[in-house]
Parts: sequence; structure tokens; C-alpha cells
Amino acid sequence: MAIQSWSFGDITVSKVVDMIEPFDARRAYPEADLTEFDKHLDWLTPYFYDPAQKAIILSFHAYLIKTPKNVILIDTCIGNHKNRMPMLPSWHQRTDAAWLGNLAAAGVRPEQVTHVMCTHLHADHVGWNTRMDNGRWVPTFPNARYVFHKDEIAAVQARIGQDSYNSPSYIDSVLPVIEAKQADLVSTDHEILTGIHVRPTPGHSPGHYCVECRSGTRRAVMSGDLIHNAVQVAHPDWITVFCADKQAAVDQRTKFIDQHTDQDITIFAGHFGGPTAGRFVTAKRGGRKFQVTT
Ligand SMILES: [Zn+2]
Repeated sequence: MAIQSWSFGDITVSKVVDMIEPFDARRAYPEADLTEFDKHLDWLTPYFYDPAQKAIILSFHAYLIKTPKNVILIDTCIGNHKNRMPMLPSWHQRTDAAWLGNLAAAGVRPEQVTHVMCTHLHADHVGWNTRMDNGRWVPTFPNARYVFHKDEIAAVQARIGQDSYNSPSYIDSVLPVIEAKQADLVSTDHEILTGIHVRPTPGHSPGHYCVECRSGTRRAVMSGDLIHNAVQVAHPDWITVFCADKQAAVDQRTKFIDQHTDQDITIFAGHFGGPTAGRFVTAKRGGRKFQVTT
């Protein structure tokens, strides 16, 4: 797969894709007026919405950040060999290993990764944290520090065994990292490395965070699951089926889009298809839209 990359001063960001699939827009936004998609087709197609299927294009990818000193992965997608039944049949026991090949195509071997930052601990953001080795789960990135939010860990641990979504992924993709003593827990807004900041944005999940990168005057934000589809730039109040605290998610998203519109800040969203990177801008006819950076 061709790897998309962007440069910011001395930082390079690459998108490393695991899987892309259409997702029924009605399931994603059960309460929304879906005719709104049709008003924004000029910028939502072809990358973010498929009008024929009435489906959002949901991409599962990691961002690879190379700085002069560090190699950082933001989120690790779905992974291989993970038991995801009965909730997620299309993610269950995948064995194609395409993602590691894509990481290699981006010029990185797992041993070179210095940091793994999981914006949150849902199954589609932690999968490649670990890999199966002789029947046991081991960290895929043996030399990396893994950065998790303290509130996210606490929330998942409190519900172990009570849900069939987060519990299995915690046990196979997070706990082995903690047991290998490679986990660092963060709790506040701070700079974990020069130019790399954690920005807590709870709502989608209890300890969700965004990652802000700065290089000189250049800024970029990896927004995780604060926004699932570009249509929410025009409609930040749309509630998704994916969010734990739906009102907090709306509030965080609205504030984030207000703060980042018409700014020279590149947004790298967690699930956008196509070119993925872009800016929030005021549309000529009013409201906001997502303008891709190719
Ligand atoms: Zn997600």
C-alpha cells in the first residue's frame, strides 16, 4: 500500500492503514437528519461518505510520527489473532499481518518505535499493541514506552468481565504491556516529549486524549475519536453510537472545532478515509467544513 506522509518542520507524519470499511450512516448517527449528508457532498465525497450505500467510510489507521530523536505511533488499530466475537466478526482472528507490512513500507521496524500513544483503549486503537508469540501475547514494540491515560485504565478495569468489547481488548492488548513494565500512565495535559503534548478530551471514552505536535511554528493535532467522520465538522452536535458519554463528547468536539477553525493547524483524525489530513475552515455558504491537505 502506498504510504501517505506529511512533513512539519523536522517532524514527518505517516498514515499506516490496517483496514477500511463502509459503515451504515444510520447506525453511526441514529438520531441525525441524514439528508444533511447530501448538502455537503461536494466535500464529503469521495473520501468520507458513500451516497450510494448511505455509509460513512471508516478507516482504521495509525499515525507514525518521526522526530529527529523518536519514532511515535498514535493508536494501533485492530491487530491480528484477536478474539472479537460475538461483537465484531470482521475484526475476529484476522491473520493477514498487512499492517506490519505497511509499517515496514513507512520505513520502520517494530524495534525502532520509541513510544506508542493510545488515544483511548477501545479495541480498534490497541490491537497491534501486542502480537501472538508462541501462544502468548507480547508487546509488538519491545523497546517502546506505551502511554495510556490513567482514567481510561481505571474505567476499563472497573468493568472487566462486564462487557464483550473493552474487556477482551484490555486483556489481550493492554494488560500484557503493563505486565512487561512498558506502560506509562498520564493524567493531565502535558508535554511527554519535546513538541509532543497530551491533551485530555474525555467524552468518547473516560480517558480519551488528543495528541498535539509542534515543530517551530507548525502545529498538528491527532484527534483520535473526538470526530469519527468529516460531516461532524459541520455538525459537531451529532451524537454517535460509538461514544460513552454522548453529551461530553459533543461538548469536547464543539469546543475543539471552535478552537481550531481557520487556524494554521493540521488535523489528523482517527477514522477519516482518503487523504485524512486537513483543516477546519469556514465554508463560503456558512458553517464549517473539512478541507483536505494532500
Ligand atoms: Zn475508534
